[in-house]
Amino acid sequence: MYLKSLTVKGFKSFASATTLKLEPGITCVVGPNGSGKSNVVDAIAWVLGEQGAKALRGGKMEDVIFAGTAGRAPLGRAEVTLTIDNTDGALPIEYTEVSITRRMFRSGESEYEINGDSCRLLDIQELLSDSGIGREMHIIVGQGRLDGMLHAKPEDRRAFIEEAAGVLKHRKRKEKALRKLDAMQTNLNRLTDLTTELR
Ligand code: ATP
Repeated sequence: MYLKSLTVKGFKSFASATTLKLEPGITCVVGPNGSGKSNVVDAIAWVLGEQGAKALRGGKMEDVIFAGTAGRAPLGRAEVTLTIDNTDGALPIEYTEVSITRRMFRSGESEYEINGDSCRLLDIQELLSDSGIGREMHIIVGQGRLDGMLHAKPEDRRAFIEEAAGVLKHRKRKEKALRKLDAMQTNLNRLTDLTTELR
């Protein structure tokens, strides 16, 4: 699995539709300060479902929509499509190529699509949950994030590694199952008490 291409349109500084073709291996984005390098990474986080405006370096989610420049009027919507190569079947879907699209309008309304079919954010999160991408977006390591990781408490660091490895989901399920077992045991104890009283 690798990221194959990214198309941005009306997203932050990318007013016109712009497609970046990516190859397996390392891709470097080079450019002067303020030219939009970090906006490319923000677009990847956003299309994968990022919900926090702060994580996208904005004050509110609407800030991702192209706000206009001296020579160009603001736009009414932002759209990003990320195409992932899935020839190794890492994503649980029967397509060798998976395109995820997110669209947002100034009204705040959002749309999501998987291979052109509209879907819910949850569908995207579920599709990605075993791939190590996960909700916490640990695949994106922002400036200063490494420092945070090195100084994190051991439990937090462990949670980070578990999510990246796809273990966290199973740990959460185990905790839920143990809580249910606990509640069941309490009910059983109560039942035993009642039958003893009735004898
Ligand atoms: P540096 O090298 O300094 O980190 P960078 O290349 O990573 O810079 P970005 O932070 O990606 O640059 O881009 C910043 C630019 O994006 C600024 O010029 C800013 O005005 C522009 N920008 C951000 N949001 C919007 C928006 N909603 N509409 C128009 N332009 C935007």
